[in-house]
This record gives sequence, structure tokens and C-alpha cells, in this order.
Amino acid sequence: MKQLYDLGELPPTGRVPDRMYASVIRRERYGRPEHAFGTEIVDVPPIGRDQVLVYVMAAGINYNNVWAALGQPVDVIAARRRAGALEDFHIGGSECAGIVWAVGDGVRSLHVGDHVVVSSAVWDETAQDIRAGADPIVSTTQRAWGYETNFGAFAQFAPAYEYQCVPKPGRLSWTEAAAFMLTGATAYRQLTGWHPNVVRPGDPVLVWGGSGGLGSMAIQIARVLGGIPVGVVSTPDRAAHCRKLGAQGVIERTEYTHWGRLPDIDDSAAFDTWLAEVRRFGRQYWEKLGDRRSPAIVLEHTGQQTLPTSLYLCDNAGMVVICGGTTGYHGDVDLRFLWMRQKRLQGSHFANRKQCLELTRLVAQGYVDPCVGQVGDFGDIGEMHQQMRDNRHPAGNSSVRINAGLE
Ligand code: NAP
Repeated sequence: MKQLYDLGELPPTGRVPDRMYASVIRRERYGRPEHAFGTEIVDVPPIGRDQVLVYVMAAGINYNNVWAALGQPVDVIAARRRAGALEDFHIGGSECAGIVWAVGDGVRSLHVGDHVVVSSAVWDETAQDIRAGADPIVSTTQRAWGYETNFGAFAQFAPAYEYQCVPKPGRLSWTEAAAFMLTGATAYRQLTGWHPNVVRPGDPVLVWGGSGGLGSMAIQIARVLGGIPVGVVSTPDRAAHCRKLGAQGVIERTEYTHWGRLPDIDDSAAFDTWLAEVRRFGRQYWEKLGDRRSPAIVLEHTGQQTLPTSLYLCDNAGMVVICGGTTGYHGDVDLRFLWMRQKRLQGSHFANRKQCLELTRLVAQGYVDPCVGQVGDFGDIGEMHQQMRDNRHPAGNSSVRINAGLE
């Protein structure tokens, strides 16, 4: 009986070897993602009663493990060690598609051989806040899978909770199925999860990083819901990608200079300059939209560089909904605009199971394309995270083959 299989070599169905290949981050390698990951052979992790073991076919590349590789803003290995974990390494990967290879005693809805997509957050279903009715994704026990937790998707096998798994849409290849969930469900919650500020037919929506993973999904979801998305990008190629996905118009942010933190409000000359530039940006937004209306929803993830613009542009009683801070964590808010115009600044983080299922249905029915712009091999995991960090990755989502061959 073999104890280790090559990548792509299929063990007999349901047979779990002792060891597996994994792409591992170690603390001494924290820094540039291209150097932070290393292929190692490790023990296959055990599963709990309510978990399954997934034979990973393909995994999505996401910002989560850019941050894990950098060791910032959180040193995930040290944080877990403080909480009692024994492992001094991190196996990342926050979404994947694969085959159920073993099931825990308490699992009812999944069986060995099922094809699944694994979503990106875990929580304790017995937690007091969840039992009291909280949305699990806001539970104090919620963690990002394969980022805050160990043993994620960049390995031959990955343990996942039953509630994380949704049926793989049959029309998708493994590498497509592996890469839509994290960005897609996050964007779906941002656009539909924060009543009354949800996308309604005819609503203008502004999408930062329109050609990125989140942006590509957000443009399509906004369109399906009847919204009118306008994207912001940095190159003409990326603008073309957004238009192909259904953006009404696209703004190239390189034509503007007012990015970053707000000037001192007492420095009226600097503030007037900032205001002139943000209004010029706003006029171009109207022009691209084809209507003098402000965005009902601004989909934010870029953070420090863009948040002041987002808040200024957002419609009265509209919402800036933010799920990240790629360019920094200082989000300057001119409170005068916030309260006088009664705007909402809303944090949002991944999605609950219902939202994951609804998004998967849209993908399965062909309304939302996974937009996989790049597929790599196991050995490319570090380099692909580096490309993402440097903002030189192709438009859309990125995926990596783990056990899958060429499709
Ligand atoms: P991505 O594919 O790299 O897209 C990010 C986009 O941001 C890029 O396409 C880039 O577009 C744009 N961008 C980069 N620098 C910018 C700047 N200075 N100003 C304006 N735009 C800039 O990444 P992603 O997967 O969409 O993720 C984006 C962020 O969201 C990350 O910080 C990630 O951690 C976060 N996120 C959070 C969650 C959550 O659940 N909380 C889920 C998914 C993602 P242009 O250069 O073309 O403008």
C-alpha cells in the first residue's frame, strides 16, 4: 500500500495515504510571495466528525495568501501557535474544487466520490452567537479557511467542513470551478447582503479594480441584478475586459492624481485641489454611465488610496461597501459628507452558505463566468501570488492545478 502518491496520481477511491505534497509557507521565508512557498511532503491531516477530506483537483489564487506569505498584516503561523496549534508552518489556499475522498461520522449530505467546490470561511456551528441566530459569517468563531486556518487548498488533500462544500457546477472545468467562489461570493454579499442597500434594477454601481478577481465578478453580478456597473482600472486592456463583462463604461484611474489620504481639512488650498480632482473624476463617472446619477453602491476593496473618492461620489443614502484594504488601512472619512448626505460605510467579509449557494447557481446557469485569466501548475503558486502582489496578473481570477491534469 503506497503512503505517498505523485501529484495527479489517483489513489484507489476512498484510500487516504499517510503523506501528501503541499505548498508550504514557513516563518523564515516570510516576505516576497515568490520565495515564501516551498513544496514539502507532510502528513495528511485528520478530519473531524463534521468534516470531509477533499482530493484537491485545483485551487484558486487569492490575496489571502499574499498576506500569509508576507507575514503581514497578520503573522498567521504565530497567531495559531499562540492559540495552541502545534504546526510551525502554513498550508494556504482559501478555495478549491475537488473530489470527496473521506467523510466524517457526522456528515450526512456528502459521499466519497462527490465533486465539490469548497468555500472560504469556517465557523463553529455550535457557537453561542450562531445558536442565538447570528449569521455564521459574522460569528466571533468565523475564520478565513486556508488563511487563518491551516491545511488549506494548496495540497493534495484538504479537510473541509460539510457546510463549506457546494456541488461543483458540471459545466465548469476543475480550474474554473476552483476560482470563482472566494471573489464571487464576497462580491455577491457586498451587492446583495446589506439591506436596504442592495442592487436594484437601474441602480448605478461603481466597481474599483473592475478587471480584478472581485471586480470581474462584481460587474457581472451587478448586471444580472439589473444594476449598471461602471468599472475603474489602470490600463486600456483591463478596460476592454470590463466592457466585455458588461460594464456600462470604464474609467482609467491613471488620468487622476488625487489618490490617497485626504488633505488637511484646514488647508483650504490643498483641499480645493483635491475637491476639483474628485469632481473631475465624478463628471467622468456620469459621462461613462450616460446619466448624471451617483453610484447607489460603491464596491470597495482598494482602501486607503480610493476610499475618500468612494465616499464623496456615493449617492445620498447610498453605500460604500468594503471588504479589503489592498493599498493601505487608513480610510479617511470626511464626516461632513457622511452625515449630511446620510451615506453608509459598510464592512463586508466573504459570505454565508446561502450566499455561496446563490452565487454558485448563477455560475452553474451561466449568468456569471468564473473569468479565469490564468492557470498555473503546483510549482507556480509562489510566482502567481507575487504577480498578484505586483498587480501584473492577467485580468480575472487565477487558478492552479493541484491534482488535475491539462483540461
Ligand atoms: P485582484 O484580482 O488583484 O484585483 C485588485 C484590483 O485592484 C486590481 O485589478 C487593480 O486594478 C486594483 N488596484 C490595485 N492598486 C490600486 C490602486 N492604487 N487604486 C485603485 N485600484 C487599484 O485582487 P482581488 O482578488 O480582487 O482582491 C482585492 C482585495 O480584496 C484584496 O485586498 C483582498 O484581500 C480583498 N478581498 C477580501 C475578501 C473578503 O472576504 N474580505 C474577499 C476577496 C478579496 P487596476 O490596477 O486595473 O486599477
